[in-house]
Amino acid sequence: METALSRLPVVELAQFYSRFREFENSSAGRRLQELGAACNPPPRAVAIDPWFHLKPGIPIATGAAAEFDAADCIAGPLEPLRNLARNGRLPLRHSVIVFTGIGRLAARPADRDLLWRAFEVPLYQQLRGFQGELLAAECERHQGLHILPDAVVELRGEELLLTSLRNFRHPVLRLASGLTGRIDHEPCACGRKSPRIVGLKNKPSVTILGNETARSG
Ligand SMILES: [Zn+2]
Repeated sequence: METALSRLPVVELAQFYSRFREFENSSAGRRLQELGAACNPPPRAVAIDPWFHLKPGIPIATGAAAEFDAADCIAGPLEPLRNLARNGRLPLRHSVIVFTGIGRLAARPADRDLLWRAFEVPLYQQLRGFQGELLAAECERHQGLHILPDAVVELRGEELLLTSLRNFRHPVLRLASGLTGRIDHEPCACGRKSPRIVGLKNKPSVTILGNETARSG
């Protein structure tokens, strides 16, 4: 289906990275992000190494095991969560939230197994933009990530083209995201009717960012 958006050119990821500062609107304010609907309010959540700014009240851990003693939920990008899980069992009471995004690792089935063995709680993956704004999120049925109203997700072949409608600091339309998947329009077993991204993966060649690169300002 052709829309006004679909007539605009796609922004390639390499082009976006090479001119990241030009795409940045530094006069747009910094937005503080919430952990999202999977656990709202999150019972004693601790975040580890987010690339964006979370609302106050969610402690940010550096990785020492003692920081997680009282945590029910740990949220972070996949790499620090993998490292934590490889250090041994750390049973939680509520959930693990994986933040993925452009230039971030998406959880594979092997990661879900690893994190389940360590944390023994459900995993909720969230797709977030450069400022951490929530674009799509996994529900309790774990049948893909529901696309939120603030995001437009299109497909070019298998690659997701992302448009974030709420990020005024890095406004970019139709960014070729380096992530692949399908879009399922069938209603989800959870009752929500919003389309879902299923089979989310990184393209094999995609560059994974370090936390200092493209951190939101
Ligand atoms: Zn659902």
